[in-house]
Amino acid sequence: MLQQTQVKTMVPYFERWMKRFPDIASLASASEQDVLKHWEGLGYYSRARNLKKAAEILVNRNGGRLYDSYEALLTLPGIGQYTAGAILSIAFNRDFPVVDGNVIRVISRLLCFEGNTRESENTMRFWGWAEKLLAHGSAREFNQAMMELGALVCTPRSPQCGECPLQKSCRAFKAGKAETLPNRGIKTETEHLDVAVAVVRKGGKVFIQRRRAEGLMAGLWEFPGGKIEAGEAPEAAVRREIKEELNWQLSGVRPVTVIRHAYTRFKVTLHCFEARYQKGRTVLRAAEEGRWVAWEELKRFPFPAANVRLIHHLSGSHQSSFSS
Ligand code: SF4
Repeated sequence: MLQQTQVKTMVPYFERWMKRFPDIASLASASEQDVLKHWEGLGYYSRARNLKKAAEILVNRNGGRLYDSYEALLTLPGIGQYTAGAILSIAFNRDFPVVDGNVIRVISRLLCFEGNTRESENTMRFWGWAEKLLAHGSAREFNQAMMELGALVCTPRSPQCGECPLQKSCRAFKAGKAETLPNRGIKTETEHLDVAVAVVRKGGKVFIQRRRAEGLMAGLWEFPGGKIEAGEAPEAAVRREIKEELNWQLSGVRPVTVIRHAYTRFKVTLHCFEARYQKGRTVLRAAEEGRWVAWEELKRFPFPAANVRLIHHLSGSHQSSFSS
């Protein structure tokens, strides 16, 4: 969770998660939908699915206990060099480094490293430097201290060099380059998608569909719709997408709101409509599963964050139109 967001945002998610899944066995036996629901809003849903898969493997092969060797941890889905290092050092106090964005920033300033930190060969150099710097025998405290130093003192903008315990040995501070490092190269533009969706009603229920098990936001539920093509009006797009994906015709299509949301890897502008199902035998071309559900049931299903915002929007002033 901390790879997704900051501590203060993460804490309520973590507490809710630990209450529902207090141990590896309870996570392994939970349904994927339950796991995704408890991850809803954190993004990168493959992490949640991988946690569940890893829990299943540990229950089946290791009596429900976590592996304590680097090689064994790397065999679990979703665990790479960073997570294995974090687990081994923080949980077992073993001498493994951890390199995240905070650690890269601190080390690049300490060494006054001016190369592009996004280049993979340079990232590997940071692992080597972190290993050399590691306080052997105290990896648990050392790694947490480095991450904390980066988060609270050696911050991206306006680092607090006057309060920094490393100031005397910091080359960037001496060179007056603390604020200009790390060199993160030229930032690539975040992709922006314009999407039109409709909350389609029939007999007091609304239609939701489940995204396929692979790919972006896999396994989450959403309202039907899709990308708006160049030059296309949002309403025309939602009618076209729903015709193509579900073989339906709609009536009473009306705009309800526009939601702008930044996901980790892209930004979306969601043009939201309400509509009534008119006719057409349902086919599911783009989704794995579709259901008609009562409005109150929506809270049981995991949705991408922009859809959650749409549900909140409609749960206020517009809910009465669904329950009628
Ligand atoms: Fe970062 Fe400044 Fe400390 Fe150097 S002296 S590690 S730049 S906070």
